[in-house]
Amino acid sequence: MTKIIKINPANIDTDLLAQAADVIKHGGLVAFPTETVYGLGADTFNEKAVENIFRAKGRPMDNPLISHIADISELERFAREIPDSALKLANEFWGGPLTIILKKKEGIPDCVTAGLDTVAVRLPSHSIANALIKLSGTPIAAPSANLSGSPSPTTAEHCIKDLMGRVDMIVDGGSSMIGIESTVIDLSGELPVVLRPGMISPEDMRSVIGEVIYAGEVTGAPKCPGMKYKHYSPDAKVYVLENMTEYENLAEENQKVCIIAKNTAETSYKADLIYDAGADDREYAARLFYLLRKADEDGADVVFAEMPGEDGIGIALRNRLFKAAGGRVITNE
Ligand code: AMP
Ligand code: MG
Repeated sequence: MTKIIKINPANIDTDLLAQAADVIKHGGLVAFPTETVYGLGADTFNEKAVENIFRAKGRPMDNPLISHIADISELERFAREIPDSALKLANEFWGGPLTIILKKKEGIPDCVTAGLDTVAVRLPSHSIANALIKLSGTPIAAPSANLSGSPSPTTAEHCIKDLMGRVDMIVDGGSSMIGIESTVIDLSGELPVVLRPGMISPEDMRSVIGEVIYAGEVTGAPKCPGMKYKHYSPDAKVYVLENMTEYENLAEENQKVCIIAKNTAETSYKADLIYDAGADDREYAARLFYLLRKADEDGADVVFAEMPGEDGIGIALRNRLFKAAGGRVITNE
């Protein structure tokens, strides 16, 4: 049985949220909102509970989880070395959508880190996420609260669709504001390396710690263990187009065609489904996973999505879209 509770992030009912904290304390699973996407949480230090996260999501055991903390001082429970760069980034961007990878300390269950010698930690900014971690009295290990392979959830409805009956509780706290997962930066090696782009861009971090490596959309051995898995895939075939008029050549007869593009009011697409992605890439990011899920619900056969910009959050958006498209990316060259 999955219990659903509704919490207003601007005015948290602490007694009600304490029910979710009780679930965490007793080794259960709670889906909860964060500013990036919804997370599926368990007590990081309860091995059995963490194993159940993998079971509920159908997540491969070799894909490690991010631990969520409520205070920077808790970093010491996770990392055996805390480089200056970690403190600088944490001070600048926490609470916020940045996950930091450090050399792990003893005592963290192997299933949290998939047996790696490193650990991923984030301090979210979302009021409900923070309050839940504090009320639980323990860091919360949480991947995105979707079934493995489907787009990350940005609303409680998405969690209900994927996880109803598979988890103990879902906290409905409205839509996630950012809409794509956190930036992941690895500070366990010689140089800082971005393993997964997010709203906090390589440029943002360079201004705080100097050199930051980001390889861009390269193929080959995945850096982030989870990146080798097919991700963010709707059932519909997705194309990413630099020139949106290309869709007229690519759409086949009898296909239900869906367009995802910015500022659709200013254009004249002829398609079965026209989804507006907002005015800029920030709004596009906030809506992307929602719209990919909607395309499936509305029975789209093919989705033509507009190519985002090349900087800022556009880098992260391209990363998610290119994965959803599985290589069907059409540039102007
Ligand atoms: P999710 O929250 O579902 O986006 O999954 C967490 C992401 O963090 C996955 O892409 C993991 O591969 C990544 N991650 C977690 N721990 C580590 C680690 N120790 N080293 C590298 N990547 C990690
Ligand atoms: Mg995920």
